[in-house]
Amino acid sequence: MSSLFHSLLRNDSALKPKRWLWVAHDQLHSQLNPWAGEPPEETGLIFVESKQRGNVRPYHRQKLAFLLSNLRHRSLEAQQEGHPVRYLISEDDYGKALTDLAQEIGTIHVLRSPELEIRQQLKTSIAEGLLREHEHGGWLTTREEFLQSVGDEPPFRMDVFYRHFRKISGVLMENSSPEGGKYSHDGENRKPWKGTPPAPSDPTFEVDAIDKEVTAMIMEHFPQHPGNIDLRKLPTTAQQAQQALDFARSVIPEFGPYEDAFSEGSRGLFHTRLASLMHLHRVLPEEVLTIALESSAPLNSREGLIRQLVWREYMHHIHEITDGFRTIDVPRSPAACRDARWGDVSGGKKSISTADLEEHPNRLKQEQPLPPAYWGKESGLRCLDATTTAVMEDGWTHHIPRLMILGNLASLLDIHPRELTDWFHVAFIDAYDWVVETNVLGMGTFAVGESMMTKPYVSGTPYIQNMGDHCQKCSFHPKKTCPISKLYWAFLERHGDAFEGNVRMAMPLRTLSRRSEDQKAADAETFEWVSSTLSRGEVLHPD
Ligand SMILES: Cc1cc2nc3c(=O)[nH]c(=O)nc-3n(C[C@H](O)[C@H](O)[C@H](O)COP(=O)(O)OP(=O)(O)OC[C@H]3O[C@@H](n4cnc5c(N)ncnc54)[C@H](O)[C@@H]3O)c2cc1C
Ligand code: SF4
Repeated sequence: MSSLFHSLLRNDSALKPKRWLWVAHDQLHSQLNPWAGEPPEETGLIFVESKQRGNVRPYHRQKLAFLLSNLRHRSLEAQQEGHPVRYLISEDDYGKALTDLAQEIGTIHVLRSPELEIRQQLKTSIAEGLLREHEHGGWLTTREEFLQSVGDEPPFRMDVFYRHFRKISGVLMENSSPEGGKYSHDGENRKPWKGTPPAPSDPTFEVDAIDKEVTAMIMEHFPQHPGNIDLRKLPTTAQQAQQALDFARSVIPEFGPYEDAFSEGSRGLFHTRLASLMHLHRVLPEEVLTIALESSAPLNSREGLIRQLVWREYMHHIHEITDGFRTIDVPRSPAACRDARWGDVSGGKKSISTADLEEHPNRLKQEQPLPPAYWGKESGLRCLDATTTAVMEDGWTHHIPRLMILGNLASLLDIHPRELTDWFHVAFIDAYDWVVETNVLGMGTFAVGESMMTKPYVSGTPYIQNMGDHCQKCSFHPKKTCPISKLYWAFLERHGDAFEGNVRMAMPLRTLSRRSEDQKAADAETFEWVSSTLSRGEVLHPD
């Protein structure tokens, strides 16, 4: 294999260390090695670049480049630390690549993957003893802690888990009571951002020869995949990961108050942008917790950030306990149409393996295909277009555009939740099955019903107008012509039965009942108009 990367990598295949450990893409921190305290030459590290993995979905090219460049850099760093390294480039999935290697070199140690897809690939070889599984030490909480507080059956409630975490860890606690007298400071964290305090400049990172080589390789091998590659925007080395932590440290003071705001003036505002790096375990959640605790930022910001870290743990546990919601009892339907432009962006490949045959959680029986607008085609709705442009460029937006624009509009348009999940999975640099399925099926849509959320996150125009500035540049007028509030009422009218008895939905349903028949007819017409126009890939105009 002739490449700059391979010329930098020593050939260690003749070495015979005491043991070999597979370092998966989500285990890139040196401290995750269970033998981290022992001489490095005793633990050989195996890295696998799986072409099957890159091809299984039309992943955003920025995501593939970010992941591969970090993997390659970490393997070189590991050699410098004194570990023997074997770096495999395989056509196969991880399971087959590792099993074949284990036949040659003996048992390979692996850490438990948070990804169900990978656990399934490794299952047989673990049972046969070719691979030996160890706990993945990169989490702040254990499964037992989750089970003790939340249990193993829905409804799962985050606030129960969060309070338990605070109590047993002592984080932000004083004499067994929450610092500041309450566990959550959400009420102080809902300010729109009007340009002050100034938003930070986007973090940038130096691009090296390995980054450039990976970029060229991805562009060559994945020409149909969506998205741009710009590795100046993302850290790929251990040293750059520390730079990313420094950026996060600098935004904590304003993180809380503007957590829910979004703006065309700054896509990231005061968000840390650490999720993708934490999922690779390039930085450990513990390190992020430490910077939050050591920060002199106001309590509402520190508490807000720490709660986000606990959300991440919560999602991980739910996914593992429910096998990605496969074990929970909820209405389901097959995703008959999983490929809104999927075929186009993946060069004709339609979708993935056995998931096609499955029935997916779909509490509200929403069956519409994802419109091309999600792949970057103009819709005419400024809030949606600005957000999908950001996703196609960066593979990232912060939480609120994901929830209140992408998820909200998909819910209002009755998009099949599985198809939306697939889109998030390929389009976001921080999406892996355990975190994207829980977030999209459990929070961004009402696909798993009340298993995770007490009510759907849907809203009309006022939320988008109040918390962001898209409406100022939209061809629709937020108070006169914007279709989103009508879509909201039409959604409630179509699905109201599903929320009967839900106290948190009682108020909107009462308001709905006061809408006249003419208004309801106009709501339904707006739904038909927006839905059919967008599904044809056409642009909406105010009359
Ligand atoms: C529809 C939808 C889809 C989402 N898909 C993903 C996804 O694929 N991958 C992903 O990591 N997050 C996902 N999220 C959660 C959240 O939006 C992102 O974690 C966050 O925006 C990442 O940006 P950040 O690193 O700047 O996070 P910050 O806002 O700075 O928050 C700090 C950290 O908290 C963690 N966090 C916060 N909220 C969540 C959450 N709900 N679930 C898990 N971790 C959380 C992240 O690791 C993040 O790095 C999704 C949310 C929604 C509503
Ligand atoms: S006017 Fe409506 S469609 Fe336009 S940006 Fe505002 S909320 Fe979105």
